[in-house]
Amino acid sequence: MNPRKHYFGSGPAALPQCVLEGMSEAILDYKGSGISLLSIPHRGPAFQAILDEAQELVLHLSGLSADEYAVLWMQGGGRHQFALLPMNFLKTSSAAGYIDSGHWAQAALKTAQHYGACQTLCSSSDNDYSSLPAWPPSLPEGLSYIHLTTNNTIYGTQMPELPLSPVPLFADMSSDIFSIKRAYSRCALFYAVAQKQLGAAGVTLVVARRTLLEQGNPSLPDVFSYAAQVRAGSVLNTPPVSAIYSCLLTLRWMQQQSMQTIEKQNREKAALVYAALDEQPLFHCPVAKDSRSLMNVVFKMNHAEQEQAFLNYCTSKNIEGIRGHRLLGGFRAALYNAVSLEDAAALANAIRQFNHKT
Ligand SMILES: *Cc1c(COP(=O)(O)O)cnc(C)c1O
Repeated sequence: MNPRKHYFGSGPAALPQCVLEGMSEAILDYKGSGISLLSIPHRGPAFQAILDEAQELVLHLSGLSADEYAVLWMQGGGRHQFALLPMNFLKTSSAAGYIDSGHWAQAALKTAQHYGACQTLCSSSDNDYSSLPAWPPSLPEGLSYIHLTTNNTIYGTQMPELPLSPVPLFADMSSDIFSIKRAYSRCALFYAVAQKQLGAAGVTLVVARRTLLEQGNPSLPDVFSYAAQVRAGSVLNTPPVSAIYSCLLTLRWMQQQSMQTIEKQNREKAALVYAALDEQPLFHCPVAKDSRSLMNVVFKMNHAEQEQAFLNYCTSKNIEGIRGHRLLGGFRAALYNAVSLEDAAALANAIRQFNHKT
């Protein structure tokens, strides 16, 4: 077997080794049943047990109770949520408020504009999203809800805390869910696509307050209605069983470590990489210090023509997945939970030791 690479892809992202092993085993023979995970019935007891345990772990990691919050596994990715939120909760009599902190935040806003009035509450587009928008925004009266993105995967900024909101708060947590301790109860609904922090692509975790669901648009077809999806227990249509199982394995791994340990390690990893960037005169991080993401480190070289040489150098050190997003160029390294301290140290060393003449 090849030695494992230090993989920093921002999504689909690295997964813990135990998740990969658990998936291989389950695909060959699910728990000794003689049937592959890919073939077990989605309305049978084996899959129900997967859903039940995953729900319990999600609620435990977010400090929420099943009485108050429902857990859903949905398809269609983040973009589907961008549309479902206004379809379900944007009232014709009021506007929705959007916090424009980067590419995904803006995509959520643009999608919602198909369904009704939306207002940008604050934006950092003026400085190319190199910091979080000025906070807190002044809120107009009577918004249907506020939408924000906790971690801006492409621009490398992250909200350190969830705000208290007088109207339902919806949070896209795709790239930083369960990476630091958060007051999840401040959200009426939060969601995360699986392929950054949770597991294999093909499923999105949604956690919604039950009292919110009661207020959703009642005239939607079931497939677009959160309330109907909750009533159907995430099996309205055939769910991506294997993607959900990969999330369960990752959630178990997170639970074993505790949120406190995960957060501590994430802070250490980010500190290593940012310190190397701030020290090395060939590189810089364009993101304002107080907005920097623990999860996605965006960086550039002062002389763009050296970038290929750095990529080659990284490849020689088994470092992969750091090419920047096509919108920004440069580099981006994801330091999601599954990226180890050792991986982060390897990247920090590569940044420190790279000499453009080598
Ligand atoms: C990746 C990402 C998305 C988009 O997910 P898709 O599943 O590709 O639609 C949405 N929001 C954030 C914050 C992301 O990082």
